[in-house]
Amino acid sequence: MTPRVCWVVGAGPAGMYATQAILRSLEDVHVVLADRRRVPFGLGRFGIAPDHPKMRRVVTPLERIVEDDRVTFIGGVEVSAARLAELAPGFDAVVIASGAGADHPTDLGDTLASREVFGWYNADHGVDTARVEEALGADREVVVVGGGNVSIDIVRLLAVGEDRLRATDLPERVVDVLVARPRRPVHLVVRSAASELKFSAPMITELVHELGLRVRVRRHESYWGGSSDSPSDERRSSLELAVSGDDLDVDVVIHLGAQAARAADGAIEISSTVDGGSLVRLAEATVITAIGYGPGALMTDLRAAPSWPENAYVCGWAGNGAKGVLGTNKADALRIVEQIREGLAPGDSRRLDPAAAVAAVRSLADDPVGIEEWRATVDAEILEATRTGRGVERIRLQPGADGLQFGTERKESLPWPT
Ligand SMILES: Cc1cc2nc3c(=O)[nH]c(=O)nc-3n(C[C@H](O)[C@H](O)[C@H](O)COP(=O)(O)OP(=O)(O)OC[C@H]3O[C@@H](n4cnc5c(N)ncnc54)[C@H](O)[C@@H]3O)c2cc1C
Repeated sequence: MTPRVCWVVGAGPAGMYATQAILRSLEDVHVVLADRRRVPFGLGRFGIAPDHPKMRRVVTPLERIVEDDRVTFIGGVEVSAARLAELAPGFDAVVIASGAGADHPTDLGDTLASREVFGWYNADHGVDTARVEEALGADREVVVVGGGNVSIDIVRLLAVGEDRLRATDLPERVVDVLVARPRRPVHLVVRSAASELKFSAPMITELVHELGLRVRVRRHESYWGGSSDSPSDERRSSLELAVSGDDLDVDVVIHLGAQAARAADGAIEISSTVDGGSLVRLAEATVITAIGYGPGALMTDLRAAPSWPENAYVCGWAGNGAKGVLGTNKADALRIVEQIREGLAPGDSRRLDPAAAVAAVRSLADDPVGIEEWRATVDAEILEATRTGRGVERIRLQPGADGLQFGTERKESLPWPT
């Protein structure tokens, strides 16, 4: 009997959960799991904050999936809409789990996007580290714009002290840059009123209670809003726990009901969303935007194409946009795979055999890599952690590079597992 062959495009949490669900629900199946990055796990590896080790461990069980004999991981494959449409008929089903796209643009001029910042501190591929380090190393204020958990992650890492940073598995180089930053309050500008906040309450209580940061909340909204039993109440009270004080004597200033704009002279003006009144003017500031993400290129092109591949299903942030937590993608994957199962014609697969399917996807990349590169990366990370006695840093693998890089710093002397 010829096994079924499924192609999962994107090896982030959604793609991994989809792969897991396919393996569990289809009896004889092979999954080709492709990602444009050279190692799997998407934002599970390159997004989740390095000072939240428990959350990072949530994705550890996914490692078993990528090691499964019925799965072939191919990294370094950027799948285009045209190639996907061309190859899709060779598979029983295609799952598009390519995540969300770039940060939403703003009219704030030269800013750092959240993807650049968390990509930098997580040693992601393709981030212009020099640009991020120059912007964050400059002797000026930092303004983070956005009211979700990603903006709080960034604020937290900018505001905590050296001891905390050194205790995380942030790359040493990243810690050095953050520690060298002049100690100035970080401004978080949130458009929403307190009653409409999107971040999770523990994210704020962690700032104040666990990390001991001095946080000042300034409410520029017309109302405090929310009924006593509204879901946002927990968030609201987490803010009420924040310590008030003089702006000069705090680590973080959270402006609620506020917006940021770039003035003609380049200054950043924070003003009230209610009456537009100016609240804070910063002559020079590094602005980081974390206001959500647009759709990725693959999904945009597929939606614009004259027809949708009949056996293609969309899972995770690629279809739902950037919302929910990791578990949301799992539920989504189960739903999609149930649809796949129902849509399969009875009997044998009429598609490519697994070897031909793997070859077809590999042919899309100039320099495809397999699971061996992932294993070597993990081994080298562990070796390096043992050597330094610190947490496990993320290694950045460059295409064609003959050595490993931690953040931006190449470790020529690192023992390379053979
Ligand atoms: C900074 C940050 C911190 C977060 N922290 C938490 C947290 O603490 N807890 C929590 O529950 N959730 C957290 N999340 C949310 C969580 O990361 C997402 O729910 C999850 O990663 C979405 O999974 P996904 O697979 O849809 O997308 P992604 O993780 O983005 O994965 C998509 C994958 O597709 C690949 N890809 C994209 N385009 C192509 C293409 N054309 N061809 C091939 N491959 C492609 C990408 O390289 C990527 O690996 C965080 C998110 C961010 C941004």
